[in-house]
Amino acid sequence: MTATQSPATSWPAWLPRSLEYPQVPVGSILRAAVRRWGDREAFLHHDVPLTFTELGRRAHAVANWLADHGIGRGDVVAVHLPNSRQYPAVYYGILLSGATFSPTNPLLPPAELAAQLTDAGARVLVTWEQVLPVVRAALPATTVETVVVTGPAHVLDFAARLEGLGEGELDLAELLAGDDTDRHLDAGIDVVNDLAHLAYTGGTTGVSKGVELMHRNVVTNVLQSACWTSGGLPTLDAEGDVTVEQVGPEEEYRTKLGTATIINLTPWFHAMGAIGYLNGMVMGGTTVVIHDRFDPAKYLADAVRYRVSSIGGAPPIFVALLQVPGIEDADLSSVRGISSGAAPLPVPLIEKLRKLFPDAPIGEGYGLTEVTMMATGNPSFRSGTRKPGTVGVPIFDTEISIQPLGGGTPLPPGERGEVCIRGPQVMHGYAHRPEATAEAIDPDGWFHTGDVGILDEDGYLSIVDRTKDMLLYKGYNVFPRELEEKLFAVPGVAGAAVVGRPDEEAGELPVAYVVRKADDNGAALTAESVMTAVNDQVVHYKRLRDVVFIEAIPVSAAGKVLKRELAARERATTGTA
Ligand code: AMP
Repeated sequence: MTATQSPATSWPAWLPRSLEYPQVPVGSILRAAVRRWGDREAFLHHDVPLTFTELGRRAHAVANWLADHGIGRGDVVAVHLPNSRQYPAVYYGILLSGATFSPTNPLLPPAELAAQLTDAGARVLVTWEQVLPVVRAALPATTVETVVVTGPAHVLDFAARLEGLGEGELDLAELLAGDDTDRHLDAGIDVVNDLAHLAYTGGTTGVSKGVELMHRNVVTNVLQSACWTSGGLPTLDAEGDVTVEQVGPEEEYRTKLGTATIINLTPWFHAMGAIGYLNGMVMGGTTVVIHDRFDPAKYLADAVRYRVSSIGGAPPIFVALLQVPGIEDADLSSVRGISSGAAPLPVPLIEKLRKLFPDAPIGEGYGLTEVTMMATGNPSFRSGTRKPGTVGVPIFDTEISIQPLGGGTPLPPGERGEVCIRGPQVMHGYAHRPEATAEAIDPDGWFHTGDVGILDEDGYLSIVDRTKDMLLYKGYNVFPRELEEKLFAVPGVAGAAVVGRPDEEAGELPVAYVVRKADDNGAALTAESVMTAVNDQVVHYKRLRDVVFIEAIPVSAAGKVLKRELAARERATTGTA
């Protein structure tokens, strides 16, 4: 079988090709960090710090509360929060209790939120005050018994009390108030068989599915990605908790463990956030300045003020940052690395970043929720070869194979086919969807991504297309199928297809092609009325940005909608063909 592991050409002698992954639960990352980094600031939100010690105390308080209320192994706790100082305490609290963390986008409309909570079978929902009306509308249709609420007051003061909570709604302060934080639970977690994360994604079909990640998957991918970016090796501390020891020469890497500061924009409800920007940072002793919304000018000002060691996130962040007036004159000399993921980083953008940060390696990575987070990356160490336009080479213990789209023998370098991934970070499966799991993971253990890629002779992967019907708006996945179902429910719509319109800032914009019914409803449709009907029901990034009326949706002889024709038309109209 033709498969690629990381090629020797881009691998320095001091970095082993394979890691040993200690069989410990996710909470072990936090416990080791608390002992190792202690009073160093772990998070800063609106300038209010949370030290590693304090984070540990808060997390244990949450874990103890959950355990005392009968929540533990086998139970799901959904987290419906924007990034904040409260989030990491809630996250680790859930995992220390043995329960499963199930993240949701904090801006989901009621119907989507209810569907996800029901599918997950969540017993507890941790949410925020500002969206309580949405939560209250969604909950009756779900399995949730208790709603834990936090608010802006808790950002500044964990003990602040919220007002106006109803029955079954509890103030997060009550969970955090536990003063028996020296009581460290032994939840008896089975790292191979216990679910740590249940994260939702549309996968290749667009139907939202829960990705089952065991404690073992999460710890493995945190180690794979953290060691990749720090040149470290996993070790256990005196208490048997996992940590990373740097083995690479210091000058090869961004910074020494326990000395870095970064600004975090990546949402923790997404894989890149939870694995790379939460666990990875806690493990490495990094101080994380939380920005809960993206204000490019503030980002730049804080990058200078905090002397950040690296800049990272999805590509639209870099596009916006480069447009901030005065960026050329800002003192960004502390920046020693750039990391990008979630969507393609266009080569012209890489060139601009290189000019501005000549000394910072740009490490573009690639992965999916189904492989916990990361599968490939351009090397983070300075002497490594980075190929712009590629997503790099497979990280430790990960294999990539390019397989023909209709199935068959794996393809040689240079040929395009479906990107398949094999490694210890591949998910257990989709929750209660055995057929979908069997379609995604073949009997040889290859996970089929629905992305189309090419491996070059040196083993570098390029993502060139997708077989799955998905588009990427600012790094967020938008599944046309979901929007099309809503379009078909609009009176007067006879046919509809959603495709991506290329856009420099956003990547792709969701655009609907619509066929009118030959009746009064059809005649009355306008682009605005169609957009309003759909956009009121979906989270912001899925909103249609335009509607094009068309005589007929192009279909193949087999009746399949020819999205490629519509996509080509969009590229021609926008001059990106
Ligand atoms: P998610 O499960 O939300 O992480 O989305 C995974 C999908 O995002 C992949 O299947 C790709 O289609 C896309 N993706 C992630 N990283 C990249 C990248 N560096 N370049 C191109 N597409 C990417």
